[in-house]
Amino acid sequence: MELSKRQEAILAIVKTYGPITGKEIADRLNLSRAALRPDLAILTMSGLLGARPRVGYYLTGKEPADVIAGVLGSVKVAQALSQPVAVRDTSSVYDTIVTMFVEDVGTIIVVSEGGFLEGVASRKDMLKAAMTGKNINKMPVSVSMTRMPNIVVTHPEEHVLQAAQKLLSHQVDALPVVVSVKTDSGEKLQVVGRFTKTNITRLFVQLAGK
Ligand code: ADP
Repeated sequence: MELSKRQEAILAIVKTYGPITGKEIADRLNLSRAALRPDLAILTMSGLLGARPRVGYYLTGKEPADVIAGVLGSVKVAQALSQPVAVRDTSSVYDTIVTMFVEDVGTIIVVSEGGFLEGVASRKDMLKAAMTGKNINKMPVSVSMTRMPNIVVTHPEEHVLQAAQKLLSHQVDALPVVVSVKTDSGEKLQVVGRFTKTNITRLFVQLAGK
């Protein structure tokens, strides 16, 4: 969160003189109370300033970084995910590459009938398959994907911060978003979305209010 010069000045005044009323802050800055209102609203909403009736504004002691961590920690994957782009496990490497281009994604989720997670095919997985020189029209995607149970997943209720940590620690670009469902052949993971580095970038820009 980037603070304006005026917001920085307000924080400095509250740090020295707090608790302090909005009117007193305005006087110190030679501004009207009304002119200050939007900045005070931003600073209290972001959690940097606290406000108590009849007492005034005070510093909460939170750093801007804490505020960002707080917001990221409270947003769930469900609020930031993208639609899944998937192919069936019976698809060829060729068709998977075509889907990557048509859907403009770097990671394809591979599913069995019913949309259950089987694997993940990345750009480099497909490049590697193509470089073998074999006929990629006849090569099933399942031979060059990373398959279950080695897939790192997230679920709609997970916090984006945790999902982001998984992307980093496993050094992958995307996570299938799954829900667990009971089937005749046991518990399976149904794919309901994908969570990628782009989702985090978008959230990051949204949080900055841009
Ligand atoms: P690229 O290989 O195109 O740079 P990634 O870094 O996402 O893309 O993928 C690296 C490797 O990790 C690939 O072999 C891919 O199959 C695998 N992979 C990608 N996403 C996941 C995931 N969510 N869980 C497990 N493995 C994955």
